[in-house]
Amino acid sequence: MTITEPTGTRSATSFDSLNPRTGEVVASHPIASEADVQAAVARAREAAAWWSGQSFAERKVLLNAWKGVITNRIDELASVMQAETGKPHGDAMLECALAIDHLAWAAGHASKVLKRRTVPSGLVMANQKATVEYQPLGVVGVIGPWNYPVFTPMGSIAYALAAGNAVVFKPSEYTPGVGAWLAATAAEVFDQPVFQVVTGLGETGAALCRSGVNKVAFTGSTATGKRVMAACAETLTPVLIEAGGKDALIVDADADVAAAVDGAVWGANANAGQTCAGVERVYVHERVYDDFLAQVIARTKEVHATNDADAKIGPITMPSQIDIIKRHIDDAIASGGTAVLGGPESVGERFVQPVILVDVPESSSAVTEETFGPTMTVTKVSSMAEAVALTNASKYALGSSVFSKRNGMRIAEQLRVGMTAINGVITFAGVPSLPFGGVGDSGFGRIHGPDGLKEFTYAHAITKQRMKPLLALTTFQRTEKAEQQLGKLIGVLHGRGGPK
Ligand code: NDP
Repeated sequence: MTITEPTGTRSATSFDSLNPRTGEVVASHPIASEADVQAAVARAREAAAWWSGQSFAERKVLLNAWKGVITNRIDELASVMQAETGKPHGDAMLECALAIDHLAWAAGHASKVLKRRTVPSGLVMANQKATVEYQPLGVVGVIGPWNYPVFTPMGSIAYALAAGNAVVFKPSEYTPGVGAWLAATAAEVFDQPVFQVVTGLGETGAALCRSGVNKVAFTGSTATGKRVMAACAETLTPVLIEAGGKDALIVDADADVAAAVDGAVWGANANAGQTCAGVERVYVHERVYDDFLAQVIARTKEVHATNDADAKIGPITMPSQIDIIKRHIDDAIASGGTAVLGGPESVGERFVQPVILVDVPESSSAVTEETFGPTMTVTKVSSMAEAVALTNASKYALGSSVFSKRNGMRIAEQLRVGMTAINGVITFAGVPSLPFGGVGDSGFGRIHGPDGLKEFTYAHAITKQRMKPLLALTTFQRTEKAEQQLGKLIGVLHGRGGPK
């Protein structure tokens, strides 16, 4: 394997994206200034006025047209993604396919979820017809990550657009080409700039937070999420934060151990472990622990991070992540843990080979912090109650997995997380009708599904009088008799059950 040193350059107005496999320059992109971001948002605001005036059906036609362009050129998009992230082409294709599926779902379901609907008005307000509809917010700023540079932002972009918003997207500085590709294909379809990209570094993202957009959807680290939220607080701009996780995989005594091993090996190592909902901690019932550990070591040995085209995993995309992975492995061992596969020596200059750690104290950063590398800790538990307690002890709470033949649902329901896959890993992310998002340090708000559509709207409630009220209550003409009748009605409706 030949590695060339990074040759990327950076000026005040442009920066290079690099291929993390080789360090070679993929392309140069402009750094959008504060003024550039504001101009993009101003254009988006005009486009939003047009876009929100289109019917759901008209928006669906155009979103489906964009979906068609992406689908027909999926190989091209996957290649840009592969060049910028280093991930295998097959993984890039899978990511694009899932993103396309979400775009289709959002376009197809926006009308049903968001259009005006009648709701029961209740006995007290029986003379009113009550309806609610979900209106677009205006312009949504999306700040994206580099690990899944199409799938993750598309969870916001597709749903925000389908809800009638215009979008300004700031891709990660490691994957600007992917963002530019998406914006260029959108421009082929939409008459107005309903979807634009602004490339740049962190400061461009910060400018987007200050630009007066109507919502910011952010994916990245918890620390940057806090900065985004603080900047948005100044203008009361609402935010959605998807800030990573420390996801656990639980293996019950009656689990199909081979299936659990397969899930753990893929969940921890796919995309070189750079997955917000990837498996980082494994809790295994003592009755199957030895069997699980032997199998998981054997199967993980088949996974190598290399520069070869057919490698199962590629390099670490963001160079600074290498130090974090190394620090977590070192801390696990220093605090009493053992590396049963790999170890500190597995961390190379660009590539990290899979590492399995056991007997790691729960206080170690290898258990408490997001590692974002191809590592897993495996811990023996004496009961599922213990596995649940340890899973729930994390400050992160994004996804989770449970392998159990009889008690999967019972265990899943006790987990304080946004998503759980039973007898599988990360399967929830591929179901467009399910919401995706976290609790605690993993963030808040939801992308995907009906919740994901509503996330980019505000509810507008309307009551319309359909007949004169039997009890005239909202008037200074209200009579004593009406008040007595209200008292009786409330007594009949709600008085039972309470102490007399
Ligand atoms: P960051 O949170 O720093 O970056 C995420 C996005 O925010 C990028 O587009 C970044 O731009 C942008 N950004 C950076 N600073 C600001 C700012 N002040 N205001 C607005 N936007 C800003 O994550 P990193 O890429 O540095 O990764 C760090 C860690 O985050 C990883 O180690 C991993 O643990 C976690 N992570 C989690 C992800 C998830 O899926 N939840 C995805 C990626 C990372 P730019 O890239 O140009 O700096």
